[in-house]
Amino acid sequence: MIRIKTAVPGPRSFKILHKLREKNGGWSVTYPFVHSSKGEGPYCEDIDGNTFLDFGSQIASNPLGYNHPEMLGVVKAYSRRFPLKFAGQDFAVEEHLKMLETLGSIAPKELDAAFLINSGAEAVENAIKICMRSRPATKFGISFEGAFHGRTLGALSATNSNKVHKRGYLKFPMLRLPYTENADERLEKILATEAYPEEIGFIILEHVQGEGGYRIAPQDMVKKIRRITEANGIPYIADEVQSGLGRTGRWWAFEHFNIVPDVFTSGKALQVAAVVANKSLFPKERGAISSTWGGGQILDLALGMKAIEIIKKEKLLSRNSKMGEYCLKALKDIKGIKNQRGIGLMIAFDVETSSFRDDVIVECVRNGLVVLGCGRQSIRLVPPYIVEREDVDTAMEIIQKSIHRCNEMRFSHKGKICDFIECGRTHS
Ligand code: PLP
Repeated sequence: MIRIKTAVPGPRSFKILHKLREKNGGWSVTYPFVHSSKGEGPYCEDIDGNTFLDFGSQIASNPLGYNHPEMLGVVKAYSRRFPLKFAGQDFAVEEHLKMLETLGSIAPKELDAAFLINSGAEAVENAIKICMRSRPATKFGISFEGAFHGRTLGALSATNSNKVHKRGYLKFPMLRLPYTENADERLEKILATEAYPEEIGFIILEHVQGEGGYRIAPQDMVKKIRRITEANGIPYIADEVQSGLGRTGRWWAFEHFNIVPDVFTSGKALQVAAVVANKSLFPKERGAISSTWGGGQILDLALGMKAIEIIKKEKLLSRNSKMGEYCLKALKDIKGIKNQRGIGLMIAFDVETSSFRDDVIVECVRNGLVVLGCGRQSIRLVPPYIVEREDVDTAMEIIQKSIHRCNEMRFSHKGKICDFIECGRTHS
């Protein structure tokens, strides 16, 4: 149950956040509370004793909520050994093989091998690398408008969702397709006027765009692009870092489009990251791809495998579809929002402006509901897979109340909450 008993952030959180802001070389704005070890299901408690309902799931990376007993069991089982991180591409651990086999059990059968790595961006980076390695005439890659593929330089070159991610960083050559039904026309034009097929290293896309605004690809677009890539032998990469591992109600979002990519990436919910493809696509030369910890973090591997086991055992794919429909239907009754959309538990809606969106997020958090922004003026709802209808009802009430509050004349946030999380311009 949500329980907010201090101002947000509470005094203990404030102290830590304040110092963190000074020392952290990354972005200095963060959600205005500090997690404690306590929490259950979709609820997490902060170090001031406030309990939040989490519809952000650690940016879609915590699919089973807080303190899931079976996940805790895995942590306990590994608590008596050290190290937990091995140099996994050079020194083998059993979990590495088991994870590859587990991934194989939920991937299309033609994608029969995988490379494990540390983060989503690195998965994208390596997906790009294996495609390029097999295509020495590569001159550029192709991604889509609004795409987010991560922040390492290769992945960032493919990213196109927000210019702040890219300013000042060199990028390698990329062309962009519109994320619309006529994307195929642009691709045909590129092939007719700009490049031979072998000069296109890869095409990468999210079948449901994440950071770019939770946009679902048009069925026709995917079908036509896949047909052209197959006809021309251009590797097709599905980026499943955010949409994968069951969030959309299928193991992988591309399954909603009846296609099989040549390569796909996974990360976040998997607890490690992976590039999955046919074994023949991976480089044959030793050292062509590697990383010290790739495949060697045994606790992450064990947790990822346990997550897959639980999703299978508890039939969470169909549950996610049903709960997603329930959530979307409820969202359609909320006044003052538009473009409610989603697939499984990957749901979003739009409000009028980005500053109003930021205000609504702050107001939701102040009332104990964690939600995330995406795109220009969207709010995304990414609850854990174990969320119940009552939790969805609670979230809807808070969203409605927050929209209403933010619409009030002369609305401004109270307290220090906006010192941390970004709000709109109404703060006085
Ligand atoms: N690809 C997609 C579709 C993502 O949503 C993200 C992260 O949000 C990434 C790649 C990068 O993952 P990471 O932040 O783990 O590097």
